[in-house]
Amino acid sequence: MRISDLLKQENVTISFEVFPPKKIENMETVIGAARSIAALHPDFISVTYGAAGTTREYTLDIAKAIRNDFNVTVLPHLTCVSSTEESVSGMLGMIRAAGIENVMVLRGDMPKDGHTEKDFLHASDLVRYIRERSDLCIGGACYPEGHIECEHKKDDISFLKEKVDAGCDFLTTQMYFDNNIYYNFLYRIREKGITVPVLPGIMPITNKRQLARSVALSGTDVPARFRAIVDHFGDHPAAMKQAGIIYASEQIVDLIANGVTHIHVYSMNKPDVAEGIMNNISALIR
Ligand code: FAD
Repeated sequence: MRISDLLKQENVTISFEVFPPKKIENMETVIGAARSIAALHPDFISVTYGAAGTTREYTLDIAKAIRNDFNVTVLPHLTCVSSTEESVSGMLGMIRAAGIENVMVLRGDMPKDGHTEKDFLHASDLVRYIRERSDLCIGGACYPEGHIECEHKKDDISFLKEKVDAGCDFLTTQMYFDNNIYYNFLYRIREKGITVPVLPGIMPITNKRQLARSVALSGTDVPARFRAIVDHFGDHPAAMKQAGIIYASEQIVDLIANGVTHIHVYSMNKPDVAEGIMNNISALIR
């Protein structure tokens, strides 16, 4: 199913995310996690693209399994940093051949050695290229707190407008821990004429290290209320996991109560976390 059609529905939709393994030996474990997450009947599952394209084939293999074996709509990611025009044409062919109707287009995180392909510098370049050559439903990323490399939020929103105009059908946000940040961002981008659906990206933080890593990468603000939770429970793995699931569930409850109907959860190959959230919101979404 095209995700743009899914997002026209009035009922609440929940999607999850999985990421490919670094080594082929771990492929079965990831496919197993995807199977368990699919069994929760999310509206779609996204499959990230390894940094520097190292796991390109794995992304597509996992996406095919989710669509064909587990019968869930799928959203494979694709990044600029490791893509040439030739590799993208090949990838589009494989996506089509697999019967997949969606693709999430990103610039990608810069590899440590700084080496990237140069055909597509910004995600908008790749969005435009794909839009001109296919009728895939295209998703893009956005940053309610501003992208970490962009000095001025207003420039970030202008570039986002360019990206949407190049052909994005919907956007998914970077994680954030205070819904007011999302509501304010929506207001600002709607004012600038960005009208596509914007899925809030909710990240359940289930251990202290994960928070430090995620915040260092994204620059996301950690509100005092959440900081206190991590400070208090961070050294107790079971308690931190439960508190992280509850915090993310509360964000989702607030979103739904405020009329947000399409929510993406960064479930990170953790079926138990995805299940915890689904249990907490089951009566809210069906
Ligand atoms: P862009 O839209 O290209 O923006 C990147 C920066 O360039 C921003 O600062 C922007 O303001 C600036 N910019 C944009 N256009 C221009 C222009 N014309 N001139 C000058 N500056 C410009 N990474 C992966 O490697 N694999 C994944 O699967 C993946 N999935 C993700 C999913 C989501 C929902 C999100 C939010 C992020 C994901 N990322 C992934 C991380 C992402 O690749 C990084 O955040 C990356 O740094 C930016 O990607 P982008 O697509 O937003 O880039």
